[in-house]
Amino acid sequence: MTATLFNQSYSPTTGKSSSPGPVPVRKVVIVGGGSAGWMTALIFARSLIERGVEITVLESPTVPTVGVGEGSTPWLRGFFDSLGIEESEWMPACHATYKCGITFDGWSTKPGFERYFHPFASMLDNLTMTQFVHNAEARINGANLHAHPDRFFIAARLAAKKRAPKARENFPFDIWHGYHFDAVLLGQFLHRKALERGVRYKSCHVTHATLDDKGSIASVSTKEGETIAADLFVDCTGFAGLLIDKALHTPFISFAENLFNDAAVAIPSPLDGPIPSETVSTAFKHGWAWKIPLTSRFGNGYVYSTKFCSPDAAETELRERLGLLDSAVEARHLKMKIGRVTRHWNRNCLAIGLSQGFIEPLEATALLFIQQTAATFVEFLEKGDLSEEAHQRFNQRVNDHFEGTRDYIVTHYKTNTRNDTEYWRANAANLNLSDDLKKLYSTWMAGKSIAAGVSQQVIGKAYPVFSWYSIMAGMGIFPDPGDLRSPTPSEARYNMSEIDNLLDRSEVNYPDHREALTAMVPRRKDPSLQIYFW
Ligand SMILES: Cc1cc2nc3c(=O)[nH]c(=O)nc-3n(C[C@H](O)[C@H](O)[C@H](O)COP(=O)(O)OP(=O)(O)OC[C@H]3O[C@@H](n4cnc5c(N)ncnc54)[C@H](O)[C@@H]3O)c2cc1C
Repeated sequence: MTATLFNQSYSPTTGKSSSPGPVPVRKVVIVGGGSAGWMTALIFARSLIERGVEITVLESPTVPTVGVGEGSTPWLRGFFDSLGIEESEWMPACHATYKCGITFDGWSTKPGFERYFHPFASMLDNLTMTQFVHNAEARINGANLHAHPDRFFIAARLAAKKRAPKARENFPFDIWHGYHFDAVLLGQFLHRKALERGVRYKSCHVTHATLDDKGSIASVSTKEGETIAADLFVDCTGFAGLLIDKALHTPFISFAENLFNDAAVAIPSPLDGPIPSETVSTAFKHGWAWKIPLTSRFGNGYVYSTKFCSPDAAETELRERLGLLDSAVEARHLKMKIGRVTRHWNRNCLAIGLSQGFIEPLEATALLFIQQTAATFVEFLEKGDLSEEAHQRFNQRVNDHFEGTRDYIVTHYKTNTRNDTEYWRANAANLNLSDDLKKLYSTWMAGKSIAAGVSQQVIGKAYPVFSWYSIMAGMGIFPDPGDLRSPTPSEARYNMSEIDNLLDRSEVNYPDHREALTAMVPRRKDPSLQIYFW
């Protein structure tokens, strides 16, 4: 199955080579046992262990993982599929739920646009996408047509009704869904899987790296007294960046001038009633809050800027919104370093995860970066090319993905119309935009199609065309909102009730979310029954 709506199509077989040849490394050491360390270990193991490469994960017994990161893009499905791990195995183990997309609530104040849904693509969207883009383009030219994205996408419907994005057996329209999961349980699950697949593990605290005469990493030393050499070192030490930053001093490009948030506070809350199949991202006074449903609880967190709000004030605002002001449940405060390193692959060191960079969690893209960086590196290794030119091509690819994603995230803030705090006003007034983004906005506001521009530019490498139309139309960004004219017959050629009808008929083929989650739990064998039938 290939989801055709994304410019990067995904196939479950990606990354597996049919005739494994030798690769130019024999020993890989991954420092860090968070999601980045274990995802990288599994992606590497799949291709490299059968080629005789030894892969070892070193994890500090004293430095905890970041412990957050509960939402994903649909790419995580490709990760598990490519490893041959069934949903029925990993989802219950990680208290995971399905994700149809994200609702953005309160980011715009424009009447009718206070809320919109950023959907994950579905095959059914092939039947409604043209109509959405057509109406949005007519609307930016002043025609009075319905252009809010929510009525055009099946995923928006399913999320609103708390249905699962898993069609019943006889309905052949798949949805490219994401997941929500408990980050700590996911780390433990991946750890177990990696060991099963031949990855080695050592609990030890790395104190420093020794460089060789060319400036590459020769070995790392541990507090426990060991010196560990390797051909390739992968830095998965999170924001610490022990190897890529502290040892190799790779320059870091901060995104602080266009993404202001640098902190978060997280508080769980009990699950009540049906289980939603979406993340909700609600605009707060100085940032936004996520609400993520797991099968065991909600994960909540407020992402904010310390320039505009203190950690105490952020915690109080989040507690108030959750009705947990007097609750003893503990809040976790986190700092975030927003930006990216210039070279994710520097000499014989590869940075993956928070050590390579982070673009705040608004679209839950961090695991996708981990996955793509690791999988792309395997591609390069399989070609056997570790030249300087290969380094440059690799870094360009990863950097383009970072920049394109950053621009999409920046657009959420730039297009906000809130006026209630200095934080939102500063975001709307922010002029630190990439050239691609400036061009996209001016094309849109001139009433022209942005489709071709998105596909040709770096911004199109991160998000597909329909995501750009969804955000612009969903936030109600139109050149002349107060002065709409009647559409021409050609502009009005699509009938909204036909679209409603199509989605009404389709929606019933997707089960209730809780029902889908329950049905998936692997059946346990009842020992008494086994004995009886024996
Ligand atoms: C507030 C917030 C919300 C987020 N939400 C999302 C989301 O919704 N979706 C998403 O995809 N991502 C999200 N992320 C990002 C996501 O959490 C991370 O990308 C992911 O968990 C990977 O982290 P990591 O493995 O790079 O680092 P960490 O989890 O910090 O792991 C670092 C590892 O390095 C080890 N280590 C550190 N120092 C040493 C040493 N000296 N010696 C040996 N080992 C060492 C530690 O023991 C640990 O095992 C979020 C991040 C934040 C901050």
